[in-house]
Amino acid sequence: GATLLRRADLAMRAARRTGAAVVRFAGAVPESEPAPPPLGLAAELDDAMRLGQIDLVFQPKVGMAPVEFHGVEALVRWHHPRFGMLPPDQFIPAAEQTGVVAALSLHVLELALARQREWRAAGSRIPVAVNLSAISLLDPALPDTIAQALNRHRTPAGDLTLEITESVIVAGLAQAAAALDRLHAAGVRISIDDFGAGFTSLAFLGRLPVAELKLDRLFAGALADDGERGDDGIILRSLIGLGRSLGLTVVAEGVESAPMWRALADLDCQSAQGFFVSRPLPAAELLDWVRNAGWRALAAPAGAG
Ligand code: C2E
Ligand code: CA
Ligand code: CA
Repeated sequence: GATLLRRADLAMRAARRTGAAVVRFAGAVPESEPAPPPLGLAAELDDAMRLGQIDLVFQPKVGMAPVEFHGVEALVRWHHPRFGMLPPDQFIPAAEQTGVVAALSLHVLELALARQREWRAAGSRIPVAVNLSAISLLDPALPDTIAQALNRHRTPAGDLTLEITESVIVAGLAQAAAALDRLHAAGVRISIDDFGAGFTSLAFLGRLPVAELKLDRLFAGALADDGERGDDGIILRSLIGLGRSLGLTVVAEGVESAPMWRALADLDCQSAQGFFVSRPLPAAELLDWVRNAGWRALAAPAGAG
């Protein structure tokens, strides 16, 4: 399973690099790419968690029609004493290889639920999505651990979404499916992240308790040229239709401009996330953004008339 996950991941990264909507893994992606992550960094993660160097920023997801707030995605940051602020791409891959990512995931979940509880106490109920590495789903204790965390923070289960990448599903891990079923039964929402970027896995989609599809940002990127509606546009329209037919919330990631926003709205996409909506924000700024209804500016994006 681990090799398959790794290959799916490589194919996805290749898709990201080339900007193509579809990349088929045909052994053409060299195993040596990307450059081996510095595993040494992963060895420091235990200390980093203990010393409070791990922090979260929060990026809003908003509904497109009507324009309304849907919640936030928690994104991890490492304030490293020597290297400064490290984005997740610089340490998550290494953490996945050494296995420390399991502890990191739980740490992130804990930080996210604690923030969410503070916001609730301050009068704002904000649904939060947390990213889970595929490996975490192989821990048979995960559903119970998450249920306990929800209890401890008195969190309504529906206010937590777990974002998992397609690679989990593609690997066809019965274990992962069982874990997702239990989490779903507990009321937690499951979201498929980076959808369409790795292997296609449509056969699995209908069988898993999924609430949300997040279209990989390469699709929104394909709309960057206003009016461009090539193959990527056709694929985008099909994926949105597919998600909606299955009763899922379809979220476009990487929405960076008003033209992208309008094109996605025209395609009946329900929800959007990206720099055009808001950059990921520190917790306090996010609360301000929510209190000031920052999404209202999107109801008539610049140039929409
Ligand atoms: P992701 O889950 O797809 O998260 C979205 C990433 O896209 C974030 O990068 C975000 O800052 C970036 N982004 C948001 N809007 C835009 C936009 O309009 N344009 C562009 N070009 N990018 C945008 P970030 O925070 O660096 O995270 C990168 C990846 O690291 C995430 O991708 C996710 O796979 C992983 N990650 C982040 N936090 C965690 C975590 O707590 N646990 C695990 N396992 N993985 C995490
Ligand atoms: Ca995500
Ligand atoms: Ca994503």
